[in-house]
Amino acid sequence: MDYQSLIEEVYDEVKHQNLKGKVADYIPELAKVDGSKFGIALVDLDGQVYGVGDYREPFSIQSISKVHTLTMVFHAFKSKLWSRVNVEPSGNPFNSIAQLEYEKGIPRNPFINAGALVITDALVSKYKDPIKQTIEYVDELAGTHCVRIDEEVKKSELAHSERNTALAYFLKAYKNFENPVEEVMEAYVSQCAIEMSCEELAKTFSFLANNGYSVFAKKQILTETHAKRVNALMLTCGFYDESGEFAFRVGMPGKSGVGGGIGAIMPGKFSIGVWSPELNEKGNSEKSIKALELLTDKLQFSLF
Ligand code: GLN
Repeated sequence: MDYQSLIEEVYDEVKHQNLKGKVADYIPELAKVDGSKFGIALVDLDGQVYGVGDYREPFSIQSISKVHTLTMVFHAFKSKLWSRVNVEPSGNPFNSIAQLEYEKGIPRNPFINAGALVITDALVSKYKDPIKQTIEYVDELAGTHCVRIDEEVKKSELAHSERNTALAYFLKAYKNFENPVEEVMEAYVSQCAIEMSCEELAKTFSFLANNGYSVFAKKQILTETHAKRVNALMLTCGFYDESGEFAFRVGMPGKSGVGGGIGAIMPGKFSIGVWSPELNEKGNSEKSIKALELLTDKLQFSLF
């Protein structure tokens, strides 16, 4: 399979379609990003990288980091984790407060904000310096020191985190939150403010396409069974209330972030990072989704 020509073809087609969206502005620092940026990086299971456009430029990964933190707590908490977070698609916006109240403080899944806050709370309980630990972990997955926290984005989100703080207090009221809210919020906005390029992102997702083994970290990151579970969660919950639509149009497990990035995997074949900052009304990248849709249409194989 000539992946390089394939992603170049997809890149050109998407550029010509001139799709429009809106750069996230509820985190003011993200609103400053150039909306015309667009990059695709595909990494095969031998570790070969194929890239086009702005695929080497770092961007704010935001909620994509929820996949990294989930895999971090996976071994440590095993089945205990699933008494604190469910594994059902939410069908609601990623920061819904109503749903959390309705479900008595057990978030629908680890990828909506309430669920991710529980995961970060678990990390804060486990590690003395959870932020450092997260950086080291993601660096290891990428096989290189590439992770940087954008302090401006972090400060910007921290100054506008009323909603997430409300979710955290709600969780606390339902006894599903162990640590001080400010401490967890700091760790959460730090993980969201991680900057990485499409290439680095695709590398960090590679183990999920490879039964849990990372060719970059040169080790088994998750058991095959756990990797399968993370992929199932990405497929059903990775795009919030657009998860069904993404599965329908693209058909790959993936995770989006309001920075406009998407990390996705084709099991047994490759991982991919796509970035274009303009979002649709569900908070997912307009062009990145289109690119992945065209890509899977053109591939000679499919997950389904
Ligand atoms: N940091 C963002 C938030 O908590 C992440 C949201 C996202 O990328 N969907 O609102």
